[in-house]
Amino acid sequence: APETSDRLTDGLNPQQREAVEYRGPALLIVAGAGSGKTRVLTHRIASLIEHREAWPSQILAITFTNKAAAEMRERVEALLGQGAEGMWISTFHSACVRILRREAETIGLSGSFTIYDSADQRVILKRIIKELDADTMGFTPAGAAAKISKLKNELADADSYARSANLNDPQEVAFLEIFRQYTRRLREASALDFDDLIAETVYLFRAFPKVAALYQRRFRHILVDEYQDTNHAQYSLIRELTKPVSAELADEMEAHGLHVGSLRDDDGAIPGASLTVVGDSDQSIYAFRGADIRNIVEFERDFPGAKVVLLEQNYRSTQNILSAANAVISHNFDRKEKRLWTADGDGEKIVGYTGYTAHDEAQFVADEIDALHRDGMAYRDMAVFYRTNAQTRALEEIFVRSAVPYRVVGGTKFYERAEIKDAMAYLIAVANPADELALRRILNTPKRGIGPATETALASFAEQNGITFRAAMRAASGLGLGPKVTTAITALATVLDEAAAMLVPPTVEEAAAADAATEAGRPTTARGAKVSEVLAFLLEGSGLVAALRNSRDPQDEARAENVEELLAQTKDFDRENPDAGLVDFLTQVSLVAAADELDDASGTVSLMTLHTAKGLEYQAVFLTGLEEGLLPHQMSASEPGGPAEERRLFYVGITRARKRLYLTLAMSRAQFGEVAVAMPSRYLQEIPDELVDWKQSPGMATSRGGTQPRALNARRGGRWGSSGSGQRAEREGLDRFSVTKSAKPKAEWANKVTGTVRDNGDLSLEPGDRIRHTDFGEGRVTQVTGEGTKRVAHVAFDSAGAKKLLIKIAPIEKL
Ligand code: ATP
Ligand code: MG
Repeated sequence: APETSDRLTDGLNPQQREAVEYRGPALLIVAGAGSGKTRVLTHRIASLIEHREAWPSQILAITFTNKAAAEMRERVEALLGQGAEGMWISTFHSACVRILRREAETIGLSGSFTIYDSADQRVILKRIIKELDADTMGFTPAGAAAKISKLKNELADADSYARSANLNDPQEVAFLEIFRQYTRRLREASALDFDDLIAETVYLFRAFPKVAALYQRRFRHILVDEYQDTNHAQYSLIRELTKPVSAELADEMEAHGLHVGSLRDDDGAIPGASLTVVGDSDQSIYAFRGADIRNIVEFERDFPGAKVVLLEQNYRSTQNILSAANAVISHNFDRKEKRLWTADGDGEKIVGYTGYTAHDEAQFVADEIDALHRDGMAYRDMAVFYRTNAQTRALEEIFVRSAVPYRVVGGTKFYERAEIKDAMAYLIAVANPADELALRRILNTPKRGIGPATETALASFAEQNGITFRAAMRAASGLGLGPKVTTAITALATVLDEAAAMLVPPTVEEAAAADAATEAGRPTTARGAKVSEVLAFLLEGSGLVAALRNSRDPQDEARAENVEELLAQTKDFDRENPDAGLVDFLTQVSLVAAADELDDASGTVSLMTLHTAKGLEYQAVFLTGLEEGLLPHQMSASEPGGPAEERRLFYVGITRARKRLYLTLAMSRAQFGEVAVAMPSRYLQEIPDELVDWKQSPGMATSRGGTQPRALNARRGGRWGSSGSGQRAEREGLDRFSVTKSAKPKAEWANKVTGTVRDNGDLSLEPGDRIRHTDFGEGRVTQVTGEGTKRVAHVAFDSAGAKKLLIKIAPIEKL
């Protein structure tokens, strides 16, 4: 009906409408941030369904996070005014897990395979590296994991690596052996790591065309958001899924009773799915995970005849914010020039703030959040971004003190806590008995007197006899181990076997008996148990919770609560997914991505890394820690294209803001346990002056006028003192903040950002000295640590508590 078709394109601009309505084999939508790419995808899906051009089950939409997937589904259903069951909207990983769980046996994998996260990977790699003595050659678990991941993202395996490696190079030979062992162990444990999920699916499709054909036939419309961040493996997966099904295969499918008739073309083949991808090469921020901008740049070559739609108008941000974004990103070479614009006006100026310390910076953020909130902005409309997780410490401390409700998205995730991984390992060991990693994790957790020697004995017994670790456990009594140890192992094996038995579906008679028992109010038999029942049994039988509860370590009380929280989660899961089982629960947990913890409905400020912020938008955004070393991150210096990628990350951050944007930094920051002088990020310079209103820390010299301590005034506006040759290095660092005439333009600019930096020179401080701080008042020095510019005074302030101050630049005076 015409009214309904209007509803799906109403309010879209002509280019957006074209992108929604275009029908053809391939469509590429390229556009800057906030121009409605994701919105167009959503409307396009709704339009396909509403016009009966596709059933929901014929649609596969790929988003970057599970959270984005849930949001897209919700919007599609809202647009349609009805549910859209059977539609796959998911991440690459979730889609692949679904496919692999169904098809696992085809590639010799158990359908209940375990998914290893990066921590699991490292445990395994650590063992391998140790066994091969490869640590002496400089191999680390993290380094090896990164290299393996990179290869898998390029669809390389150990054998193909062996063909291309230089086998005269002992380094490469050693790595090859690590890669081989790693692959073998995952296989034996019936486990896949995250990269395998994609790579194995591609392998499955390539090696088994009939399996591929099932999915090629099913998905008629494939849509991919954030295409700029796809890596080679993901790209290959899309290519496989969009291939046509040959007439012969279609015949065969038909012979098996699959409906293909209406899908066939004149030659009898099923044409490839129609593919829509949207992306913005300026927002490519996952090169470190193998993302390849070329996928978007070369789309037209890969999919000949593809239609290209450009979107230009931005509907998210004010012009001031967009102008800043444009200015920053224009410093990257090798890009197609595009300028974001809005019809909504300039809006407020961007606010810049330089704190004296990270705490000072955090306090500013907290105060502004408070002010915005008092002006009527909801907490959930505000977000604070940072480059590294470590930066949350200061923010959280201040937010707690300032009573700002917040939520860290990502960070130390619930499922990464040791006690949760322990409890999960019990579940995994039940679901996938081949999983040696899980078994070894729980072997002596809680402590039952099974030491590393026993663990090794079991492992080598398994190895020598070609049996699994679990089978070795069952055979423990024949291994000549001590009686106590043997009993402990056997008891554990029994608990696991009993838990596995609980999962077996009940017979019809048992089910009837259980129903009758429930009605009569009697306890039911355990067969066909729910996930929560199995977990409760395991926690009880293993003594895990009891051990935590009985521990004298005060932290263990919280750990026990976490484990009980997990139990509560399994109960929720059971209630919400009455037909699902243990493997479904494990899958769900494995796929919880950082951004999934977002909860829009909650009235809290969101804290997250810049990477997590992709695709999201907030009324007010705080970009914090805009300092050299953090953004660009120091690690990026050694990566080719590193600074350009970091600039895109900054661009992503800026373009998340709708109305208010704050750029903040600190003049000194504790990193790796040391307090060091920080320098403003180079990218700040790229934003035109007139867009930003710079404010300084109240503790800094220029803003305090006459109230400043004398010692500090002496330095004001002057050159750095001749404070001794040992301090040359620090002067080089600090020069950028100075205001001398001889200073380079860069330094002048930096000074504008940071104000006049104080320099306390060699101010001598010793434990016992009394000092006065411009913000914290008076206090007593308890300790002095570090040397040169990095000398730090530990001060017990009379009212502000204990603080650590960088002596060189702290706004302090000796009394
Ligand atoms: P990003 O590159 O950050 O992922 P995007 O291109 O996907 O951005 P969207 O998130 O789809 O952009 O849209 C940005 C904002 O603009 C959203 O709030 C969206 O609802 C709104 N928007 C998009 N198009 C229109 C339009 N035609 N009219 C009104 N609002 C729109
Ligand atoms: Mg988007």
